[in-house]
Amino acid sequence: MKKYDYLIVGSGLFGVIFAYRSKQMGKNCLVIDKRPHLGGNVYCENIVGINVHKYGAHIFHTSNKEVWDFVNNIVPFNRYTNCPVANYKGKLYNLPFNMNTFYQMWGVLTPEEASAKIEEQKAEAVKMLNGREPQNLEEQALTLVGKDIFEKLIKEYTEKQWGRKCSELPAFIIKRLPVRLVFDNNYFNDKYQGIPIGGYNKLIEGLLDGVECLTNTDFFNSEYRDWQKYADKLVYCGPLDQYFNYQYGKLNWRTVRFETETKDCPNYQGNAVVNYTSHDESYTRIIEHKHFEMFGQEVYDCPKTVISKEYSTEYKEGMEPYYPVNDDQNDQLAERYRHLAEQEENVIFGGRLAEYKYYDMAPVIEKVLNIKNI
Ligand code: FAD
Ligand code: UDP
Repeated sequence: MKKYDYLIVGSGLFGVIFAYRSKQMGKNCLVIDKRPHLGGNVYCENIVGINVHKYGAHIFHTSNKEVWDFVNNIVPFNRYTNCPVANYKGKLYNLPFNMNTFYQMWGVLTPEEASAKIEEQKAEAVKMLNGREPQNLEEQALTLVGKDIFEKLIKEYTEKQWGRKCSELPAFIIKRLPVRLVFDNNYFNDKYQGIPIGGYNKLIEGLLDGVECLTNTDFFNSEYRDWQKYADKLVYCGPLDQYFNYQYGKLNWRTVRFETETKDCPNYQGNAVVNYTSHDESYTRIIEHKHFEMFGQEVYDCPKTVISKEYSTEYKEGMEPYYPVNDDQNDQLAERYRHLAEQEENVIFGGRLAEYKYYDMAPVIEKVLNIKNI
């Protein structure tokens, strides 16, 4: 029987970059995944010639040049820049909150006018806080951008996304949204962003070139559960609580349900991402996948389009675990499991499921690039 240096459970970015690096170091490894395909959540399905982000829209962004060069060396990235638009009761607003949004909201023309309007909008909330720090998302939003923007672009969207009232959510969620007094619709502040040319599957294929992989292979229901027979070390990227047979109880997740349909027109909404910020629609966003990779005339050269409506929902058994729920109860439970994980010999727990931590793609890559002694 062949003995590997590493058995890698999970072919998401963590596992795949680990495999790439171990191959570079002259080690051999076997990657297994329970899904019928490789790539984890960045996997795309080709529908009518369009790469459809099966597990939710993935936009690569980073300010880390090492990470950017690393991925571009595997496959060059395109110039896609995320500029989402919000639809509130049939009216469109640019995101993130910038001079375009302020003009659309109030008709203000200059940064000075916008700034004065925001101050006026914030005044009531600032007075109410009376010098203390915002305690929840609602207070944070009201003191950041004021009443109109909170009510039209934040409140109901956030309630749909998290299934809870804004006053019951932590303030830090909204701190991620930039507020700008310039006409700049770029959602991210990072230096670099884009989508791999030809799609994410090209990135995964490039990273896994020459690596042995098995799909449809669940670690827990296969011979690989006795991994010591097959490898010296285990890299585990599955759910943290499942590894320990849920002995302390189950960790909670938030998930998303996607309704994907092909439309018989070349350009459905004119943008990759449109957020629906009122309760009039029960979905949070519509993604039109072709706009990630087709620009200008290319949009019309492909006669059809594929859209996905995203419904944010509470996680139940059998669904995809997407976002960790960072409340006290879950954080404490995860900490207890992490303590057990530290005591496992020759096992590396990595990635968003095994660390019970929300990671964007670039930080996952950075993390694996920084692992010493592979
Ligand atoms: P995953 O990609 O989830 O891979 C884990 C793999 O392990 C899966 O393939 C799974 O099938 C496999 N596995 C689990 N259990 C077992 C088992 N028992 N046996 C075998 N295999 C198993 N990041 C960005 O930078 N930009 C974005 O725009 C962005 N959008 C996102 C949207 C959504 C809806 C979500 C959920 C995440 C988004 N991310 C985004 C984050 C990105 O998906 C993660 O950073 C990335 O997937 C992390 O890779 P991973 O290897 O940790 O996990
Ligand atoms: N948000 C909002 N309106 C929007 C977009 C985002 O109120 O149109 C809020 C919402 O609370 C969300 C948070 O901003 O949870 C962060 O949004 P972002 O899109 O940055 O995060 P992601 O959904 O990718 O985790």
